[in-house]
Parts: sequence; structure tokens; C-alpha cells
Amino acid sequence: MQNYKKSLIAFSIIPQILLLKILANYPAFVESAYSTSLYIYISKGMRYVFGWLPISVGDILYTLLSIYIIRWLIINRKRIIKDTKHWLLDVLSAISIGYFAFHLLWAFNYYRLPLHESLNIDKDYTTEELVALAEQLTTKTNTIHLSITHNDSVKVDMPYSKAELLEMIPEGYHQLSKTFPYLEYHPRSIKKSIYSLALTYMGFSGYLNPFTNEAQVDGLIPSYKFPTTGSHEVAHQLGYAAENEANFIGSMAAMQHPDVYFQYSGHAFALRHCLNEIYRRDPEIYETMFPKINSGVLKNYKEVQNFWNAYENPLEPIFEKTFDSFLKASNQSAGMESYSYVVALLVNYYTSNPLD
Ligand SMILES: [Zn+2]
Repeated sequence: MQNYKKSLIAFSIIPQILLLKILANYPAFVESAYSTSLYIYISKGMRYVFGWLPISVGDILYTLLSIYIIRWLIINRKRIIKDTKHWLLDVLSAISIGYFAFHLLWAFNYYRLPLHESLNIDKDYTTEELVALAEQLTTKTNTIHLSITHNDSVKVDMPYSKAELLEMIPEGYHQLSKTFPYLEYHPRSIKKSIYSLALTYMGFSGYLNPFTNEAQVDGLIPSYKFPTTGSHEVAHQLGYAAENEANFIGSMAAMQHPDVYFQYSGHAFALRHCLNEIYRRDPEIYETMFPKINSGVLKNYKEVQNFWNAYENPLEPIFEKTFDSFLKASNQSAGMESYSYVVALLVNYYTSNPLD
């Protein structure tokens, strides 16, 4: 490539960053010009292309790219000293192209309207409202739990394989789309990641590949988590980039799913978030909540905790910190620590739409 063109591409990263800084002030524009228009076509198109393939194309692309980068760095190692300027230009132009593709294909969604604004619900709530929802969720979770196990101290085991669970995820969205038509999810593209073990060690239960729009679930996590994790990644796929918003939509998709095991996973997940927030606000109330929950439900919580504890390692916090910093740099001021916002969405949504 000509040097002039290469410099132009390399330094286009500066106007790109400036443009994003400006876009952060215009969420309504991003919502209409990207998230609810162009992005819909991008996501659908990619799901048509890659969704039907049983293997993760994104993971394969990442593998090939990593090999290419390592090879390139080895071949061009001497240029770092001899030809620093052009070496840097090569690297910067590659970063610049990647950055552009990342935003065009997915990441502008970080700059869209917050969900409570598009749903027209409040984002504040009182501890009383929170406790009231947690109590409703406890009753509902206990009821579903008992209808499955017929014994309050037995944990729920999924009767489906993990592949079957992934196949069932769209039904929850189909149900949800009766209230929220823009959450209709077709075609599907949800797969186990080839790099499940690495994801587990990094502390991630799934991710959305922004370049192929494939929803990736860590294949090692307990089956009980598949409905909510899979639905969480689908929410990302539908353009809800923020973690807490994907949690809210994902938990609703599982709670409203026609299958009782999905309902169980969804309600227990929402309850878990409420309990965490109650603990943060008032540990004494938290203590009074626990005896009300079936011990079988607590065993499912424990199962998940044990799973993550088994893979704990010194590098995990570093990966989490990196992802957290990335979110903060991408217009997500709360980073990963935004659980109370998912609870805010749950409380305010279910205050006006009570659980049945
Ligand atoms: Zn996520």
C-alpha cells in the first residue's frame, strides 16, 4: 500500500475517537440511526450467514488472526529498530481498521439510549420496593422449584443437554416479543465457544463476537446457568450492549420462556441479583430473606459458586479488570459494577407489571 494511504488509515483513529466522544452526547441519534435501524440489518445478515454453522466461525477467525499476528511480529521483528516509523504505521493502520469494523458492526450500541428511557420506566427505587420484589421472586422461584423437584431441599438438574438448551433459547424471546416486538429473535446464532476453558479461567461465562455476531456460551458452566447466560448473549446480539441491560432482558426472556426449567433459571437469577443488592443496602434484611428460600434453590446457587471457585486463579482478576476498563472507555461509566441498575430495571418494570 502507498505510504500516503497507509498514513491516512493509521491516523484516521484520531477522528474516529473524537467522533465517539461526540456521539456519547447524542444517544437518541445513535438509537435511531444505528441501534434500531442499520444494526438490525447487520445482526440479522450475519446470523443468516454464520448462525446455521455448528462451529464458532468467530473463534476460528480469532485463532487464524492470532497466528497471523504472531507470524507477522516474528517476520517483522527487525524492522522495529531498523524501520520503526513504518513498522508503527503498519501496526496503527491495522488497529485503526479493527477499531472501525468493531464500531460499525456492533459497538456503536454502547452509545444508545439507556433502557429505562426507551422503556419509559424510572431508574430509582426504594429498599422497600426492592424487598417487595425479592419476596415475590422468592415465592415464584420456590413454587417453580417445587413443581420440578417435589422436594424443597433437592437442587434442580436440567433434563436437557447443553446443545438442547441453546436451541431452546429463542422461544423465550418469541414470548417476550409479544410485549416488545423489537425483541423478536430470528434467525438464531448461539454456540458453545471453542475456547470455553480459557473463558472459564478468565471468569467469563460467554461473549458476543462483534465481528461475526455469534453469541458464544462457555460450554463448561453448569447447565442450570445456560438459559440465563445464553439469553444474556442474545440480548447483546439484539443490540443491548450494556451488561446490566443484557442481564435484565436475558432474565426476562428466561422467566417468560414456555419451559419450566428456563423459568426456574430466570427467576432464580433475578432473585440472586435482588438479594445481592439487598445485602449491599441492608445486611440485616438480607439475613431474614434466606430462610424463606427453598434450600434446593440455594444448592443451585452454591453449585454455580463452587464451579467458579474451582477455576479461581491469579490471572482472572486481571482479565476482569481489563474488561471493566474497556467498558468504562466505551461509554459504560459503571463498568461491570452496575448490578444495582439491573435491579432498578427489574424493580421498576415489575412494580408496573406484577409477576403473576
Ligand atoms: Zn455480557
